[in-house]
Amino acid sequence: MMKHSPVANIEFIKQVNTASVYRLIDEQKQISRVSLARLSELAPASITKMTRQLMAAGLIKEIAQQASTGGRPAISLTCEIEKFVFVSCKLGRNNLTIALHDIAGTKLTTYRVALDTAPDNDVIPFLLAQIADFIGANINTDLQRLIAIAVTSPGLIDRESGTIVYLPKHNLKDIPLGNLLTKSFSVPAYIANHTQSLSLAELYFGAAQDCQDSVLLSVHDGVGSGIINNGKIFTNYNNQVGEIGHIRIDPLGLPCHCGSHGCLETIASNEAILKQITGLINQGHETSLTIEGLTIEGICNAANSGDELAVQVLQRVSKLLGQAIAIIINLFNPQKLLIKGEIVAAKELIFPIIEHSVQQHALGSFVPNVVINEAKFQNEPSMAGVALVRKALLEGSLLNHIIHEYGNN
Ligand SMILES: [Zn+2]
Repeated sequence: MMKHSPVANIEFIKQVNTASVYRLIDEQKQISRVSLARLSELAPASITKMTRQLMAAGLIKEIAQQASTGGRPAISLTCEIEKFVFVSCKLGRNNLTIALHDIAGTKLTTYRVALDTAPDNDVIPFLLAQIADFIGANINTDLQRLIAIAVTSPGLIDRESGTIVYLPKHNLKDIPLGNLLTKSFSVPAYIANHTQSLSLAELYFGAAQDCQDSVLLSVHDGVGSGIINNGKIFTNYNNQVGEIGHIRIDPLGLPCHCGSHGCLETIASNEAILKQITGLINQGHETSLTIEGLTIEGICNAANSGDELAVQVLQRVSKLLGQAIAIIINLFNPQKLLIKGEIVAAKELIFPIIEHSVQQHALGSFVPNVVINEAKFQNEPSMAGVALVRKALLEGSLLNHIIHEYGNN
């Protein structure tokens, strides 16, 4: 662990206190200095100093609140929202999504482009050029200030250094993306694994706001998870945890790209579901589905209207998904297990089966503690980066950066 000098420690404490004051104003929407002092348990003199600093940077402003007795209006503080914006991107397997959000996290605009349009399949220069174009087209520099850029993607990412360690789909290895972005756009950059960041978004603004421990299970091309433990992303020294897709569910099952057999991903991923249905159609089983144009959405719709083949395949998938979820519950005992993926479109069918399977396979004393539900952010990829930026803002590092950048103007 890094050793701080006494001066650095004092600076750090100031940063944490200023962040807690900003956080209170953000939470309360409108608050007086007196209430701030009471809620933060900081001295009124410190509150005066910190709010002056936040105001000088344009992060908060005073508003007059008419007293109900008709006397002198009381002065409240509120966050300045419109002035500060950030860019949140998802570098996906096939698409790049770029969105503009205000400092409070509200989405202002979004843009999506296919990655196969990247020249020479070289996604990093393409990403930087797309972000530059997006900023040029969407930020009004007279009124708005860019404060950060966040990029989330699948693969192995070192959040601390902002490095894409390994992203095989785009042939990326050890790319210091955070540094590249900061160099190009002169703002702090936040880079992290997409599913992990999205689990943080569920905690901050989504379906897991009311709990400290939750797991987001993402069922798409693969099956992945983001684990929140004690209000923080659960991770380790090399950021590789939660590979739930490779829990072996069927020892005699199909080969998996990891080298094993019968991994959850060979049964419950979108690709696996499409493969199972295609195989059964080819064998002549009766169904309203056709191989041409087969999608997970179409399979869910067919199941919802009673197509026996679609129902049976999704029932099996749900049962085995439940077995894997039981393992997660036994290991982490979360308060909530959230599922994100196209299969949620058949929720009336799949959730009762998943729950039944969990009841059969998870520890009896843990099962009553956990709520299994759909995730809030099913199709809002930029929310993952929003969680990273809001975390840096409310914990102080990004707030401190803004104070130093704009405080003296
Ligand atoms: Zn595997």
